Amino acid sequence: MKSIRLRPGKEKSLLKGHPWIFDGAVAKGGADSGETVRIESHEGRFLAWAAFSPKSRIRARVWSFEESARIDEAFFAERVARAIEARKLWRIESDAMRLIHGESDGLPGLVVDRYGDTLVAQMTSCGTERFKPTLCKVLISQTGLGKLYERSDGSVRALEGLPESSGWLAGEGPVDLLIREHGWRLGLDIARGHKTGFYLDQRDNRQRFFQWTAQRAFAQVLNCFSYTGGFTVAALAGGAGFVTSVDSSAPALEQAKAQLRLNGLDDSRTETLDADVNASLRRFLQEGRRFDAIVLDPPKFAPTSAHAERAARAYKDINRLALQLLRPGGVLFTFSCSGGISADLFHKIVASAGIDAGVDAFISEKLGGAPDHPMTLCFPEGEYLKGLVLVRKT
Ligand code: SAH
Repeated sequence: MKSIRLRPGKEKSLLKGHPWIFDGAVAKGGADSGETVRIESHEGRFLAWAAFSPKSRIRARVWSFEESARIDEAFFAERVARAIEARKLWRIESDAMRLIHGESDGLPGLVVDRYGDTLVAQMTSCGTERFKPTLCKVLISQTGLGKLYERSDGSVRALEGLPESSGWLAGEGPVDLLIREHGWRLGLDIARGHKTGFYLDQRDNRQRFFQWTAQRAFAQVLNCFSYTGGFTVAALAGGAGFVTSVDSSAPALEQAKAQLRLNGLDDSRTETLDADVNASLRRFLQEGRRFDAIVLDPPKFAPTSAHAERAARAYKDINRLALQLLRPGGVLFTFSCSGGISADLFHKIVASAGIDAGVDAFISEKLGGAPDHPMTLCFPEGEYLKGLVLVRKT
């Protein structure tokens, strides 16, 4: 077994249970891509078993802090079983959920979503890449499902020096799937959709938006960055008068229209605009359009804190425009899914957007990702999705 010796003092985060070892922490040692290595302190004391990533700034990711652990099929079977067990505690009312959420489930670099009888996996680290056949076997045996599709095509693979890889790993079947969420039927495409096909992390927030709409009977709703229309379905099901969905992806908007038909919702109560959100918000302002509720769910503007400054400007801009477009008493559901923007910073950005807009608002709720995308005490980086529900003061 190869060893990686750390520099003095660099064991601190590992001793607190944090699973990443950065390149600058390594004094000596190396291994092949994804190989399991023994991480030791500068005096040679065992710290963890980890997967080595020769090209990444995150040079190794911890599999286990137990010296007696063996990183083999039984180890992965146990981790996967525990993750599945945890989901049972949350009583998720959907046949679609995230089964494995990377570091938070003790499986760094692995994301697995379940859509009905189909699993979709993303392997974004050298360790998960090396153990792909084992992980595939274990996922099939622990879930009792037969179909596993790979979507390892995110840009983070490049940071690990890994090529993109997609397609069936086990079984085969349709890539156009239907799931059930809050009693709605939602379609998705696991081969061509974003991420693994759908934004499961927003499940509870779509439900919350439905509840707000049902209570307040919003006449005019604007769903920005609508993707396949999850929040649009929520609004229409809640009785919204008219919903405008804006997204720059034509296939996503086509799918959004299909969701309406699937759910027997009246498409004369909607319009879908294939357009840039920022430009659309400016146009609506010029045209004097106003809305009773707005959803802002942009893509990840800041994947890491290095991008935070530019991203902050982008978030501020759209939030300022949205606050100006809200009628007094209107409701804004605003989100950031950027790991590089903390909840606190996001709050500050939205506050300064309000100041620039000359609009004050009540912070009615603070939102996060659905529980099947968990954060843990030891891995604060697991917090990425945060949202605020604002009610514009009258
Ligand atoms: N709210 C959605 C998920 C949104 S994901 C849901 O509940 O499913 C972010 C979306 O923003 C993607 O669909 C992407 O196509 C879109 N997008 C990215 N940049 C955009 C831009 N500048 N203007 C409009 N849409 C954009």
